[in-house]
Amino acid sequence: MSLIVHKYGGTSMGSVERIQNVAKRVAKWHAAGHQVVVVPSAMSGETNRLLGLAKEISPQPNEREQDMLAATGEQASSALLAMALMAQGVPARSYTGWQVPVKTDAAYTKARITSIDDTRIKGDLSEGRVVVVTGFQGINDEGHITTLGRGGSDTSAVAIAAAIGAEECLIYTDVDGVYTTDPRVVPQARRLNVISFEEMLEMASLGSKVLQIRSVEFAGKYRIPVRVLSSLTDPLMPLEEEMNSGTLITFEDDQKMEAAVVSGIAFSRDEAKLTLLAVPDKPGVAYSILGPVAAANINVDVILQNQSVHGTTDFSFTVNRNDFPRALEVLKNQVAPAVGAREVQADEKVCKVSVVGIGMRSHVGIASLMFRTLSEEGINIQMISTSEIKTSVVISDKYMELAVRALHKAFGLDQDGDIPVVDETDEN
Ligand code: ADP
Ligand code: ASP
Ligand code: MG
Repeated sequence: MSLIVHKYGGTSMGSVERIQNVAKRVAKWHAAGHQVVVVPSAMSGETNRLLGLAKEISPQPNEREQDMLAATGEQASSALLAMALMAQGVPARSYTGWQVPVKTDAAYTKARITSIDDTRIKGDLSEGRVVVVTGFQGINDEGHITTLGRGGSDTSAVAIAAAIGAEECLIYTDVDGVYTTDPRVVPQARRLNVISFEEMLEMASLGSKVLQIRSVEFAGKYRIPVRVLSSLTDPLMPLEEEMNSGTLITFEDDQKMEAAVVSGIAFSRDEAKLTLLAVPDKPGVAYSILGPVAAANINVDVILQNQSVHGTTDFSFTVNRNDFPRALEVLKNQVAPAVGAREVQADEKVCKVSVVGIGMRSHVGIASLMFRTLSEEGINIQMISTSEIKTSVVISDKYMELAVRALHKAFGLDQDGDIPVVDETDEN
């Protein structure tokens, strides 16, 4: 007997029939003697519908009320799932985040989980029930409902798995695992049987929305084995087979893995670029530009400062598109006058495409193959950023899909693709 957490996304909970299928699957695990906690998302489209209603009332809804509203989606799907389980003869009980409670900080719409009390969950499990806990939500110190950001049910599930000491957290979704890139954009994408924790962290942070980044961080911090698998298979398929399907995120030593040089291509359209032209180049200039941006609670991603010419330089950086209007305001009203920049330029039509792989540690030539591939497609690179296991470029967003497909092919990730020749370094 083991303690397991299942998470089901919006599509997986998308209709009464799908909820009944989830119940069948969970009933199968329960009948095999496992203790199961299930974390559902809202039914597909529901969170968007609720947030859309809020926007109709007010273009910038009060964030406390927005969370109060958005949290109802998961409350409804959780209760429906508990009913579906009971209809199949499985004792079950659902809880909202605040009933557990799942405690969070006070950052409405993007709260972070700070602690989870496992008393009620453990109590119900020991009485033989399946426990259903709403994803995406919690409660802050003042007793107000908070939500964890889009895709936050992944994080709820992994955090609950950590809190109760589960053996594995199974993330059931509408694809059958983690692919070399989004299979909706590149149909030739291949499913990975395993992906290292570090690569998954990069993929998630660079835009692959199959897992919310914070869920991967939790998995790493508490060493929770996480598996991504399909909820759309036959719910009564043999348990053994299901347990070994999908993609496992491993913490194995990198060397032991059948490491491909590049594991995946991630991309994000949520980018916007801001440029200050002709900034006097002197010590402290980056700080005078980015200090006020950070003070406005805006995250800066890729940064580029040009060589200075005649004592002035151009300074560009990217931010999340949601933060773009505020970042532009800060630059125009505060920064540009203070640093004496000639002009502020803005480009909302950019995206970021990244090549990810732990093989980059031991192979050179990845970046050059990436740049060559983009140049052969006539795609102009506006900014570049690298870390140990990824190279990202900022390009015009109209070329995003072309770039992703070309890179996927060039790095031998297409099904039946040829593995590219890249140079080995002397180290390792
Ligand atoms: P859920 O509602 O189950 O949480 P999401 O829509 O949040 O599902 O995430 C699953 C989706 O993530 C897939 O349908 C797929 O389009 C997308 N996706 C993006 N990148 C990848 C990837 N590398 N591998 C698999 N799916 C990906
Ligand atoms: N329902 C929330 C969303 O749509 C949380 C989730 O699905 O993970 O973002
Ligand atoms: Mg999701």
